[in-house]
Amino acid sequence: MNYTSFLIKYGEIGVKGKNRYLFENALMQQIKYALKRQDGEFSVHKAEGRIYVDALGDFDYDETVGNLKTVFGISGICPMTFAEDEGFDKLKVFVTDYMKEIYDNSASGTTFKVFARRANKRYPYDSMEINALLGEAILDAIPSLKVDVHNPDITLYVEVREKIYVYSEIIPGPGGMPVGTGGKAMLLLSGGIDSPVAGYMIAKRGVKIDAVYFHAPPYTSERAKQKVIDLAKQVSKYAGPIYLHVINFTDIQLAIYEKCPQDELTIIMRRYMMRIAETIAKETGCLGLITGESIAQVASQTLASLAVTNEVCTLPVFRPCIGMDKLEIVDISEKIDTYETSILPYEDCCTIFVAKHPVTKPSLEIIKKHEHNLDEVIDDLVKTALDTKETIVVSVG
Ligand code: ATP
Ligand code: MG
Repeated sequence: MNYTSFLIKYGEIGVKGKNRYLFENALMQQIKYALKRQDGEFSVHKAEGRIYVDALGDFDYDETVGNLKTVFGISGICPMTFAEDEGFDKLKVFVTDYMKEIYDNSASGTTFKVFARRANKRYPYDSMEINALLGEAILDAIPSLKVDVHNPDITLYVEVREKIYVYSEIIPGPGGMPVGTGGKAMLLLSGGIDSPVAGYMIAKRGVKIDAVYFHAPPYTSERAKQKVIDLAKQVSKYAGPIYLHVINFTDIQLAIYEKCPQDELTIIMRRYMMRIAETIAKETGCLGLITGESIAQVASQTLASLAVTNEVCTLPVFRPCIGMDKLEIVDISEKIDTYETSILPYEDCCTIFVAKHPVTKPSLEIIKKHEHNLDEVIDDLVKTALDTKETIVVSVG
């Protein structure tokens, strides 16, 4: 089939009243971002309250659909073909050829209906007449099909505008809201499975993502850092360009290691990660933090540990994986293509300084008391970590 354009369906954002155009503009911008990563030129435009993507020359169909499937806010992608308006007889031939090409081999008794929309009111037939006449022509051409106007297997949409657009397939989009319509949040991105999924899930609700990664050279390698950059890149397919802040965490970890009890290392370290992430978040206009935490997955993610970690934050912390089983998180990571990268076996800064028996029920009071062991050095160390942060803009396309 010679598809030339796509009608973009967007469910949820249609209902936003006066803000509708903001959502549509954000959606169009994200569509353009997604199509930049492939060859071919496209026009992305609004007409009659709908969004269309027209190919302006050669393009790869599968790649285009694949890229459109990364744009949050799209509920359906309808590949369209069009005929010039050269009289109704020619249109009948065009439409029956279209149906033959796609549905000639359908099981006998497959049902269809024609659903015409006449935007060009000068067209000599109204939509009811177009439905009836084209329906008849299709029945004549493909005897195995039957009409069912209530619950058809196939709906053939015919849109009469300057040209006549025809489509019948709706490829599901990713749903969600266009990125950029929901503010910005700071993702704590590690090299693991969970945090890329967490970023993806919050971006799906229209939130732009920045990210922070804590590395601990020489205990963690360049390869571990590159892995996080690669994960950010994969998330940015959906979330748009990501500012990834890389924090050198080594001296802070060594100080905690030296001065605090072994079984509290992880929890104290997590509190410093959150504090630093929040400082950068506030400087960069983020309205919340995002982590990949999930209740009871590890010692630092018991309710008691999460509560103690959370205590240092004043911004809301979004934890979209919180109630998910590992397998559910893995499913999403496979779907968004981060899994293979996440399981590469490079060391993580948390695993290096981890205690054999970390506390699972930390007491906030005791943790705070032991954090005072760091009083003499910690402010300088945090300041240096922030001053020396490296910011990488990660995007695809
Ligand atoms: P993940 O699979 O996302 O690494 P995890 O199951 O390994 O999660 P933890 O290592 O306890 O869990 O980390 C919990 C959360 O803390 C992570 O999901 C991530 O948001 C954040 N985090 C952990 N380590 C780092 C790091 N080195 N840099 C940035 N964020 C981190
Ligand atoms: Mg981890």
